Amino acid sequence: MQTCYWKLQNNEQDAEVMSKAAAFIQAGEVVAFPTETVYGLGANGLNSEAVAKIFAAKGRPNDNPLILHIADVKDVEPLTTGLNENAKALMEAFWPGPLTLVINKSAIVPDAVSAGLSTVAVRYPSNKFAQQLIKACGCPVAAPSANISGRPSPTNAQDVWEDMHGKVAAVLDGGNCGIGLESTVVDTTEPVPVILRPGGITYEMLMEVLGEVEIDPALQGDANYKPKAPGMKYRHYAPKSAMYLLESEGAKLLPKFAGNALAEGKRVGVLCSKETAEALRADCKGLNLPAEASEKLLISSWGESLEELAANLFYLLRDFDRTMPDVILAEGVSESGIGLAVMNRMRKAAGYQIVIVVDGEPSLKIGELPLFMLK
Ligand code: AMP
Ligand code: MG
Repeated sequence: MQTCYWKLQNNEQDAEVMSKAAAFIQAGEVVAFPTETVYGLGANGLNSEAVAKIFAAKGRPNDNPLILHIADVKDVEPLTTGLNENAKALMEAFWPGPLTLVINKSAIVPDAVSAGLSTVAVRYPSNKFAQQLIKACGCPVAAPSANISGRPSPTNAQDVWEDMHGKVAAVLDGGNCGIGLESTVVDTTEPVPVILRPGGITYEMLMEVLGEVEIDPALQGDANYKPKAPGMKYRHYAPKSAMYLLESEGAKLLPKFAGNALAEGKRVGVLCSKETAEALRADCKGLNLPAEASEKLLISSWGESLEELAANLFYLLRDFDRTMPDVILAEGVSESGIGLAVMNRMRKAAGYQIVIVVDGEPSLKIGELPLFMLK
């Protein structure tokens, strides 16, 4: 399939692009578009055949339901049998924005969207391009992230193109996504709402509105719990190289582990803050490593704040698939604010290879430390 690539300019010409993109969606085709979280892969959410094309383009398992995107609060009504007070309070506080609500679904929502569940996930995005597209379509737009299933979600149009050209009708380029992580998913059908996936709307923000909110225990990476958001059980965001996440005290071991791995001749990718990157570079200078060894150290810094980390994480993970180090060492961060969402994605990207310090000794939460960490 020929894939159109249309750059959005933030001027009058966008209207024409939007009507061409909407015509594709109305005709049952799939179009990738920007949102404030990550790029989405959109199709008519009330048309099962169109929705099936999303699953095919991504290679997404059929039991992983999709989010329906709307561009007006009142458009939620036909999709549900009714909203409770918690759902209404969250819509009032956070829509439009990076919050997805799981609500009881009405009969017009196809099983292909909800994966046979009695509930449906709905979001009203704040990104202007997303709103223009959804309005032009005149239907709810089913849209998962625009990556091949399992890869990090795309936060710019080039990354979408890499995964989706030839597979979808068009890619809309609206620049970089502001938040950079997928929406927070909250199940509002329980007496106490439950966070099924952390995201840009943080636990603290939800608590302020609801007074009470739970976190799905499966998010702690406990194998005994089955996640309630079916999508959260899949391996995700994983770069091709082996990745280790250094949490809490474990993060202090980063320079030592990097040095050991370099000494073994490994190409070492490091994902860390600007401060740690500067310290590492200074360390390397101090060690007087031969030129070949320092060339094998690939430092990717996300900047200073948790917000910058969220915005850059998926791009940096995808970049490691281009440089392909032998091992990636990632520095863990605090789980406050958007840190909870960031750590959730980093743990999944690392396949739960998490290094912590127990009784002063490094240890892997599950499994055994690789040799270069034992020296
Ligand atoms: P994505 O489309 O990649 O952003 O993923 C959407 C997330 O929302 C996945 O983790 C889904 O499992 C979750 N989700 C969608 N619909 C529902 C639902 N009805 N109940 C629970 N989780 C859902
Ligand atoms: Mg996804």
